[in-house]
Amino acid sequence: MTTESELLIDKAYVAGQWRDGVRRFVVTNPATGEVLAEVADLTAEEVREAVAAAEAAWPAWRRTTAKVRAALLRRWYEAIMAHQEALARLMTLEQGKPLAESRGEVAYGAAFVEYYAEEAKRVAGETLPSHGVDKRILVFREPIGVVAAITPWNFPLAMITRKCAPALAAGCPVVIKPAEATPLTALALARLAEDAGFPAGVINVVTAAHPAEIGEVLTTDPRVRKISFTGSTPVGKTLLAQCAGTVKKASMELGGNAPFIVFDDADLDAAVEGAVASKYRNSGQTCVCTNRLLVQAGVYDTFVEKLAARVGELKVGNGLEDGVAQGPLINAAAVDKVQSHIADALEKGGRLVCGGEPHALGGTFFEPTIIADVTEEMRVARDETFGPLAPVFRFETEEQAIAMANATEFGLAAYFYARDYRRIWRVMEGLEYGMVAVNEGILSTELAPFGGVKESGLGREGSRHGLDEYTELKYVCVGGL
Ligand code: NAD
Repeated sequence: MTTESELLIDKAYVAGQWRDGVRRFVVTNPATGEVLAEVADLTAEEVREAVAAAEAAWPAWRRTTAKVRAALLRRWYEAIMAHQEALARLMTLEQGKPLAESRGEVAYGAAFVEYYAEEAKRVAGETLPSHGVDKRILVFREPIGVVAAITPWNFPLAMITRKCAPALAAGCPVVIKPAEATPLTALALARLAEDAGFPAGVINVVTAAHPAEIGEVLTTDPRVRKISFTGSTPVGKTLLAQCAGTVKKASMELGGNAPFIVFDDADLDAAVEGAVASKYRNSGQTCVCTNRLLVQAGVYDTFVEKLAARVGELKVGNGLEDGVAQGPLINAAAVDKVQSHIADALEKGGRLVCGGEPHALGGTFFEPTIIADVTEEMRVARDETFGPLAPVFRFETEEQAIAMANATEFGLAAYFYARDYRRIWRVMEGLEYGMVAVNEGILSTELAPFGGVKESGLGREGSRHGLDEYTELKYVCVGGL
């Protein structure tokens, strides 16, 4: 079996070549502070070379049959799953999440490759009734061209496959810019893609420690026809503005401020389990993590008590150790943000139920925290904490809960627990979110369209809709018949 060190690569991947680059940057383990690797830090010029390689690979790649692309994707999927353990360990080393979560992410990320291997063969155009007896209307669905994928550190593998698998299936080459905290998983994925047999230039990974410079190249180069970004809303807005110059298509998976609503008719034990999964997974560092718990007055005290008992069982530690449910945060800035949200809430009258402090383990470990009696004046009501803090708001009526849930510029994921089926329909329809989970704490799957409304983003990933994002429609009018 391959080990994580056999998959640890410190070179960028451009035009089918592994490149040292002229500069290097350090990747560390957030659980120990230990240096894992010094990785190639590509310059803007080297990134342009990657774009050129992708552009050069495009004509042949788009002409391959769907069946050939499907077979390559399938081989990549099998390679990822065959190396699940090594990839998971590498991910835990550079990102910090518990090993069980890393294994889950490898399987989740691989599922996109498997799904789009199948879907590649179903990219269909159409014929339409025509506007004249001597004419015919044909609609082709064509690959959009070179795709640049910019991805975050919180899901170092799945955010890449969610973009690349549909792009490759559609016939587009890709240039991947992984987050500077987690390039190793991305490079290991590229190695497995190379082994699977993808032609040179079809997949490129440009590692770099100066994202703004690279982002500018990828968004302004006219050879890049589509940007697919996952990350924070402010960076997404910058990239969108930069795309305007070349009228580049863009998909944006941005920040969230997910409400998790517990109504007084809910199954409270199930709601507690759902809240723990959706709040503390990945130490609270997922875009669909619950950011605000909204609990109806009649069950408020009981829910907080049950949640505190369950959160008290979460073991914090190095993700490689058995039984750890919560690893470190990604860096010191992430800890500062959590602490500032806690301080603000406590200053304004919040009640600390548990946690609240950096963990005794030191470094960037943080105690799973619950604050009750939270109000809409506090920062946690508006800002994404991206850490293990559960702020619990109180509400009286269903209308109030929906209004509170929607009182944000974000609209990614929302969760609620209730039993009354009429209420379930009303609330489901009232929530202004791209994704709603009913009596469920985890909703991501390759089978469903993932994405947000409002400032949470543009476009969808997963399902057949995820592939449409990498195609253009070409209308052909055939006349003179
Ligand atoms: P980030 O925006 O700081 O970084 C994301 C990526 O963008 C990284 O690769 C980074 O190097 C790059 N980047 C940063 N500045 C850039 C610039 N000026 N130009 C070009 N690229 C730039 O976000 P993050 O801290 O890595 O991730 C956390 C954020 O991502 C959270 O807001 C979270 O909600 C969001 N997120 C969203 C989804 C989703 O699907 N909607 C999924 C995961 C994370």
